[in-house]
Amino acid sequence: MNHQWRIAARPEGRVKESDFVWAEEPIPTLNDGQIRVRTVYLSLDPTNRIWMEPADSYLPALPLGAVMRGLTLGVVEESRNPAYQPGDAVQGFGGWQEVYSGDADGWTKLPQIPGVPLAAFFGSMGHIGFTAYFGVMDIGQPKPGETMVVSAAAGAVGSIAGQIGKIAGCRVVGITGSDEKCDWIKRELGFDEAINYRNEKVGEALARTCPNGIDIDFENVGGEIMDAVLGRLNLGARIALCGLISQYNATAPVPGPYNFSNLLMRRARLQGFLVLDYAARFGEAAARIVPWLLSGQLKYQIDMVEGLRSAPTALNRLFDGANQGKLLVRVSSEA
Ligand code: NDP
Repeated sequence: MNHQWRIAARPEGRVKESDFVWAEEPIPTLNDGQIRVRTVYLSLDPTNRIWMEPADSYLPALPLGAVMRGLTLGVVEESRNPAYQPGDAVQGFGGWQEVYSGDADGWTKLPQIPGVPLAAFFGSMGHIGFTAYFGVMDIGQPKPGETMVVSAAAGAVGSIAGQIGKIAGCRVVGITGSDEKCDWIKRELGFDEAINYRNEKVGEALARTCPNGIDIDFENVGGEIMDAVLGRLNLGARIALCGLISQYNATAPVPGPYNFSNLLMRRARLQGFLVLDYAARFGEAAARIVPWLLSGQLKYQIDMVEGLRSAPTALNRLFDGANQGKLLVRVSSEA
């Protein structure tokens, strides 16, 4: 039998376990061209909350009753597709379930790279590392000596984005929600400065830590934090609008940034982007990231939660700031 989390209700604000239903169904036989994948790791992402909304986002809305959409890393257990063999490590939209059985469209076979464990494909590559890479390099256009600010800096994308900014020669300032996280991004990851937005007014902290203004904003949060960053933009600044996590649980319209006019005054460029749009260039990003990983220039941390049953409650760790690094659920063992 295959166990799954299906969507039972549209969340109001924060996700509750009762927004899902734990289901069980027999594992079907495969048709020609199909694969069966045992889920090893399920990625929990802030965008999971967006996918539960009734309206289409950048992906079609999920109907009530559907298996919850989710990115997974897994192992092929059975294949009626000549491109896949049992034992292959793969990544795809396997969903919140123990076993995926279906078409191979959208699945990617992962290379075996000595020194790079399976979880690294979510910790530092895959949608996380590639988001950070293209956001910093393509949209941020970093130049040595520039100042880059990263919000949600101790999270999955932010922690990688800040390190890529350092590799590109920037002075990097991270904004995050605890002293422990500030300490981690400075000591372990090499950020130049860290701001705990729960302890200090972000605008004042930015004035202290960014005396020469801000050239690049890698924006993960939105709201008051983004507004404070907009208030200190330099001429020609670039804003890589990666995410707006502060508003994903909003139940009423969210006000726009007060410092919006600075985009005009500073002739800044704000660009929203989605990692999916860069699919044709993932190889380019991996070719840069793997050597950084192997040389220890780029570090990642996995925040592991055990068991598929915990997925609905674990999702709120992202909104509470309880995670440090990439939040994953271990659904089964790698071997
Ligand atoms: P993270 O691992 O960064 O987890 C989310 C973090 O956001 C939390 O740990 C918390 O850290 C912080 N946070 C949550 N709520 C708030 C709030 N109200 N105010 C300030 N900080 C908050 O998640 P990801 O790395 O997966 O995602 C980070 C951002 O990147 C999200 O906005 C996500 O939607 C976006 N994203 C975009 C992609 C794209 O293609 N454009 C792809 C992947 C992610 P703290 O302790 O610092 O508060």
